[in-house]
Amino acid sequence: MTHVFGRHFLQIPGPSPVPDRVLRAMSQQVIDHRGPEFGELGLKALAGMKTIFKTEQDVIIYPSSGTGAWEAALANVLKEGDRVLMYETGHFATLWKKMAEKLGVRAEFIGGDWRSGADPDQIEQHLRADSAHEIKAVCVVHNETSTGSVSPIADVRRAMDAAGHPALLMVDSISGLASIDFRFDEWGVDVAVSGSQKGLMLPPGISFNAVSGKALEAARNNGMRRSYWDWQEMVEINGKGYFPYTPATNMLYGLVEAIDMLHEEGLDTVFARHQRLAAATRAAVRAWGLEVLCNRQGHESGVLTTVMMPEGHSADAFRAQALRHYNISLGSGLSKVADKVFRIGHLGDINDLTLVGALSGVEMALSKAGVPHEKGGVAAAMAHLESTPAPGIDA
Ligand SMILES: *Cc1c(COP(=O)(O)O)cnc(C)c1O
Repeated sequence: MTHVFGRHFLQIPGPSPVPDRVLRAMSQQVIDHRGPEFGELGLKALAGMKTIFKTEQDVIIYPSSGTGAWEAALANVLKEGDRVLMYETGHFATLWKKMAEKLGVRAEFIGGDWRSGADPDQIEQHLRADSAHEIKAVCVVHNETSTGSVSPIADVRRAMDAAGHPALLMVDSISGLASIDFRFDEWGVDVAVSGSQKGLMLPPGISFNAVSGKALEAARNNGMRRSYWDWQEMVEINGKGYFPYTPATNMLYGLVEAIDMLHEEGLDTVFARHQRLAAATRAAVRAWGLEVLCNRQGHESGVLTTVMMPEGHSADAFRAQALRHYNISLGSGLSKVADKVFRIGHLGDINDLTLVGALSGVEMALSKAGVPHEKGGVAAAMAHLESTPAPGIDA
């Protein structure tokens, strides 16, 4: 194979590109995870993650992908036969439900059309109908990465409180955290699940649970068999910055660096940067005459934009052209929307020119693949970027 010049455009909604600063921070010698130096690193990583989740409660770090942290959330607070209420926002919500079923949990789905986030009113109705309070938890995906829709988590909590229901609120913010607003304590979340390879700008490999006191208490009283994922042992030894088994040391070096970068920019600026790039992306899609999958105003994701292909055109064939001609990776459609949509990731280590470059690749690849569209999407995105202040630069 001949050398490919220039940088690859990794525009999938995770893993996202890793900043050089994070790569360099990770490129250090491994240390004794029981030695004196390690405790300091562990404490820094754990305290740092609390500032990202916006919680004063416990955060747990697992050497696993996000899927492991999903299982940890379920296995700690639920046992076989328990009822949970889940919301069908898309592919990832569906996978989480399947996992719950594999663990013997009775998961009920509020059906959705994959074009919006969760509807708090429907959650409230379901909880009101459960007058015996059998439902142990409500599980919602914050940023549904398969569709590009965001669920209003604060409103979900308000709906649960309005119903007077004691269920725990469990939120998958694997792709939302550190890219869009998330407030664990303020929103009354009981368990939040996240991962390293999306907004946190790290390689894949570690995952997180943020855990409320109420959830920790529920776990203590829950007889479901679990070992590796058990919170209790973790929380105890984490107090001194250590882990019950070998942690992913070099990922923690990277994590501490990434958290520093996020705070140097300021979380609010990080979130505003994502929203502005997402709005520019939607302007491009509209100008192409194509449709954004999320059709609920206010639910559009700052992390990614999912674009619907015109009838009769293959999204995968289009993505293959984009990769071949322009060295850009775009996200595929998953399960129900396979080959029908493609996803543009605009998260993490990204700026105006990265986005404009990526959108140029999309626009040119639409032509190469013979997909009917109007020209001018990139110009529309540029116009949006020119006319709105860049957070942290202009304002
Ligand atoms: C990426 C993602 C997952 C799966 O995480 P893995 O790290 O691939 O196991 C689950 N939920 C959401 C919303 C995601 O974006």
